[in-house]
Amino acid sequence: MLTRHGLILHVQRDDRLHVSISGNKWRKLKYVLRQALSERATGLLSFGGAWSNHLHALAAAGHALGLPTVGVVRGEPEYAANPTLTDARAWGMALEFVDRQGYRRRHDSGFLAELAARYPGFYLIPEGGSCALALPGVAELWRELPACDRLVLPVASGGTLAGLLSARPERTVITGYAVLKGQGWLADTVCGLHPPAAGDAGWQLRLDHHGGGYAKCRDADRRAIVELSHTLNLPLEPVYSGKAMLGLFRDIEAGHYTSGSHLVFLHTGGLQGARSYTSVKRSGQAK
Ligand SMILES: *Cc1c(COP(=O)(O)O)cnc(C)c1O
Repeated sequence: MLTRHGLILHVQRDDRLHVSISGNKWRKLKYVLRQALSERATGLLSFGGAWSNHLHALAAAGHALGLPTVGVVRGEPEYAANPTLTDARAWGMALEFVDRQGYRRRHDSGFLAELAARYPGFYLIPEGGSCALALPGVAELWRELPACDRLVLPVASGGTLAGLLSARPERTVITGYAVLKGQGWLADTVCGLHPPAAGDAGWQLRLDHHGGGYAKCRDADRRAIVELSHTLNLPLEPVYSGKAMLGLFRDIEAGHYTSGSHLVFLHTGGLQGARSYTSVKRSGQAK
């Protein structure tokens, strides 16, 4: 199909960046961790869902650095037994479970002050690791990429996209596939993290490929992702890489990409989270 549409597709395998600190989370954490160390933080605290790639990566990083970690998790304490949080606990992460309502307070200064008082000296990292210090680590990715007309990636909290935009080469347009129902605010979040993005015409968000919302995946889409995974001989999971790849292929089919373009797909990792989807996991392991 790529040949028929006159396209070249290269996959940047950030899923293979590190054995336990997955893809874009490693890049986003690099300078955050450096800052925490330079401030002599006594520990690291952050927020995430029960299958969070970010908390998983943070737990592994804290373990490697000898720093205690705390994960504030949205959901029931029973989730502590799932593969993601079992790994995190094995790396020494302490977990605090909050309900949906409590989790909404994760950006709230009162809640953050309360956590800071309970964990004195801890370095607090926002959900997904998306903050100003996440950008330079992501920007370094350009040094490893081949020259291309288009860079394609999944987008959730926007930190990875903002980091890429902060060092975007003139010739490369970036297309982000929103994996959640983002609509208007997602572009604003990206611009909030990297204000020059507001005046940059070299990027776009595809908002109609979220397949029902974050971590939701229709059966037909799931089958299509497994099929793509086999065709490309590439491990994909249905939350990020699979959803974005499926969106890309549907857009290619619809003629959205100009013939003659060299596309690079950024595989942001996150395969550990796929352990919640056994069928896709199997195709991932076939690699
Ligand atoms: C967190 C994550 C993303 C989304 O990155 P953002 O910077 O939040 O947009 C994409 N892919 C994977 C595998 C992730 O874990």
